[in-house]
Amino acid sequence: MKSIWKRYVNRIYGNCTEPIQFGKSLDYWRNELFAATVIYIIPLSLIAVIPGVYMSYISGLYPLLLVDVIAVGSIIGVAFIPRLSVFTRKLIFCGALYITSIALLYYLGSSGPGLLYLLALTIFIILCLEIKYAQAAVILNALICTLIGLALHFDTLGQSPLTSEYEFDTWIAVSSNLVFLSAVAVFLLPKLFGGLQSTIEEHEKLETKLEKNQERLEDSIKQLYNKNKELEDFSYTVSHDLKEPLRMIRSFLELLKKKYDGKLDKKAREYIYFATDGAQRLNTMIDDLLEYSRAGRVYTEIDEVDMNDLMEGIKMQFAGDIHAKKAKLRYNSLPTIRASSVSINTVFRNLVNNALKYHRPEIPPVIEITAEERNSDWLFTVQDNGIGIKAEYFDQIFSMFRRLHNSEDYPGSGMGLAICKKIVEQHGGDIWVESEDENGCKFCFTISKEVH
Ligand code: ADP
Repeated sequence: MKSIWKRYVNRIYGNCTEPIQFGKSLDYWRNELFAATVIYIIPLSLIAVIPGVYMSYISGLYPLLLVDVIAVGSIIGVAFIPRLSVFTRKLIFCGALYITSIALLYYLGSSGPGLLYLLALTIFIILCLEIKYAQAAVILNALICTLIGLALHFDTLGQSPLTSEYEFDTWIAVSSNLVFLSAVAVFLLPKLFGGLQSTIEEHEKLETKLEKNQERLEDSIKQLYNKNKELEDFSYTVSHDLKEPLRMIRSFLELLKKKYDGKLDKKAREYIYFATDGAQRLNTMIDDLLEYSRAGRVYTEIDEVDMNDLMEGIKMQFAGDIHAKKAKLRYNSLPTIRASSVSINTVFRNLVNNALKYHRPEIPPVIEITAEERNSDWLFTVQDNGIGIKAEYFDQIFSMFRRLHNSEDYPGSGMGLAICKKIVEQHGGDIWVESEDENGCKFCFTISKEVH
């Protein structure tokens, strides 16, 4: 039953609509409405036609019976005859209903729905055809009413309920209402359609603009991604290639020190010390640069990471430092999250390392780690009681090689937080610092729950 109905609907849709793109214009909706009307009017018309045919048969109104049958036949033809344009189908549909209205009017008079049909037909034309056809429908209604009026006046219609109920003047009084209501509908409804049409067009324009912008945005993202990739490849290759000559410099400095140590004066030994120290720092910087370019490039595997286990690992890594500085590393029960465990380990390693490194003299570091579940991400914080950071440096410290202290006071390359930022962003998150000067600082970062 369902498939018969589906086939019936598809067939009528195929015949009564044109392949206009969805939402393209008012014509699309006009055809949709027409198709829906035809689909439902066929089964529904049985409700009116079966008793109508029966009554016509009993009362001997055979011409009305014939008109009913022709009207239903025409509508079935409109629905199923192949190779007719939608416009022709609409004209046949309206023609059939016009004939039915006039027949109803003639044979049933004011007790039949003839005038109502004429008004409904005008509204149908406004909805399903262009405005000029609706205007023509009003003129046609006026013409039909005038002709009937004249026929009544000259008594040429024979004997029927219409002729027995109406005189010329009463008919004109009644039928002018029909013309009036049709004219009002033709005047008002298209205003609504005009508004709808311009809204649809506006919507269409906005959609096209949005699509174009989206395409442009996607292009830019692609370009940015490619440029980033190029840059990463470049920094990876450069830092990788730099390691080789640096290794040579360091080993020759070692050799120089070993072979000529006794023969060199204090100044020369000092120079060798500075050169070795510089080479060592350059080595650390290159290692960090390599780590930066590798971040998210090698360690992309996303897994379930138990943050308690991860933190135990961090504690072990820094056990020596924690013991030496009498530091405390505290955290309560931490969640299991989806992330790259190696990358998240790198973030915590850098943050805990900094918290241990930038502690206030004579005051043992206390580091507290917390996690908070939010709607779409996890918020982690690493708080210390160290030297703190001035607000003006809050953004700068996440840039590559940006340091606020010299290497004598606090060793480092200035890459740790840049690496953290890169990893966090790859996990769909954000990283920032909060600090009241000299009162320690709190590093906060988020990890999206939607990491794939
Ligand atoms: P590095 O520690 O190697 O210098 P980072 O990128 O890890 O590089 O840090 C950048 C700068 O931010 C540091 O030089 C330091 O001045 C400041 N900083 C980072 N963490 C802290 C902290 N916990 N307390 C105070 N200052 C910090």
